[in-house]
Amino acid sequence: MTSPPATNRSLFERACRVSPGGVNSPVRAFRAVGGTPYFVARGEGAYVWDVEGTRYIDYVQSYGASVLGHAHPKVIEAIRRAAGLGTTFGAPTEGEVLLAETICERVPGCQVLRLVSSGTEAAMTAVRLARGATGRDRVVLFSGCYHGHSDALLAGGGSGVATLGLPTSAGVPAGAVAETLVAPYNRVPQIGRDVAAVIVEPVAANMGLVPPEPGFLEGLRQECDRAGALLIFDEVITGFRVGPGGASRLFGVTPDLWCFGKVIGGGLPLAAFGGRRDIMEQLAPLGPVYQAGTLSGNPVATAAGLAVLSLLEDAAYKELSAWAGRFGAGLAAAAQEAGLAVQVPVAGPLVGIFFGPSAVTDYEGARLSASSGLYPALMRGLLERGIAIAPGPYEVLFPSLAHTGADLERTVEAFGEAARAAVRGAA
Ligand SMILES: *Cc1c(COP(=O)(O)O)cnc(C)c1O
Repeated sequence: MTSPPATNRSLFERACRVSPGGVNSPVRAFRAVGGTPYFVARGEGAYVWDVEGTRYIDYVQSYGASVLGHAHPKVIEAIRRAAGLGTTFGAPTEGEVLLAETICERVPGCQVLRLVSSGTEAAMTAVRLARGATGRDRVVLFSGCYHGHSDALLAGGGSGVATLGLPTSAGVPAGAVAETLVAPYNRVPQIGRDVAAVIVEPVAANMGLVPPEPGFLEGLRQECDRAGALLIFDEVITGFRVGPGGASRLFGVTPDLWCFGKVIGGGLPLAAFGGRRDIMEQLAPLGPVYQAGTLSGNPVATAAGLAVLSLLEDAAYKELSAWAGRFGAGLAAAAQEAGLAVQVPVAGPLVGIFFGPSAVTDYEGARLSASSGLYPALMRGLLERGIAIAPGPYEVLFPSLAHTGADLERTVEAFGEAARAAVRGAA
């Protein structure tokens, strides 16, 4: 007996029986936009194909984990070679050293690095380390930023937490967030001498795209220095994406600790946190702050990360940012022609979409944009035209180095059509 070919709908029905909401990460669900998720059969470069054979120009790109596009031959080759030598040992490998050296070389001020397996782990541990190193408990973060789903950092969060409209999460004890202060993005808060760390996305990309206003990051650096607190840049998205040294090098502001993820894993589960030597040496086995991981610095993941970073020369960033600049301008013009009031912020290679007449500078503005209710129609309109963007209004678009001029033109054209349809639908 042969079973009928899988369709998106049939797979989703089966998925819902065995996984909550049919997905393994809530940002993949279509609840915020309606409809059934497409199940990916394969990806290549700028494109993904679903199980029904439909091709999409993909701007999700694993929420930023793929910067070269899907299945880059050099990355796949590195993964094959590494996998053939064994996938995990519980003993150190050369790849871990090479990856840490590469990252520390490119990010001035980042002297020592520890590899972990997810951005959540990186941010969670950076905060623990800051608390251990300063002997203080309080942490300041900014509403609309996302730092993974550890208890202490699940307050005022962006990304899926925002999409689901949750202030935090059930299951997080009040005590776990009692020392977490949430401040508005793009305003430098006054902090007390009880603050261990200020953690920030140097370019916010989990409430849509909100670049830092001039002086914001510099102001945070000054305020942390004044209060004796550590500054943590969560560069899980911006690291090795907005430029060769990430956001800290781009803006010339040096934090005490960094979190990296997404790009540095080359599409495999790998992340890192790092920073000043004196702080990092507070970690076990040298110091009293504990952290560990069975799969940390996994040899297949480090090989993929190294392959990606080896292809990210200055010229690659120039090309990607130039593409994104043209793309953003094209989307803005197409929306204007369609009579849809849209903001298209661009930060290096990152592109965002907001609805409304003025630029968004914080989470309040992002929520106002989302409350227009226009995102679902636009997203579905694009999907029907073979363009995949994230199924939630608080995510950004991730063009890759594989996206071509033809992809750009096709997307801008589809965007104009989808915008016109959204305007008609809203009228
Ligand atoms: C994605 C993300 C995280 C969490 O990373 P995971 O690997 O999903 O745990 C943390 N911080 C930022 C800024 C992110 O975008």
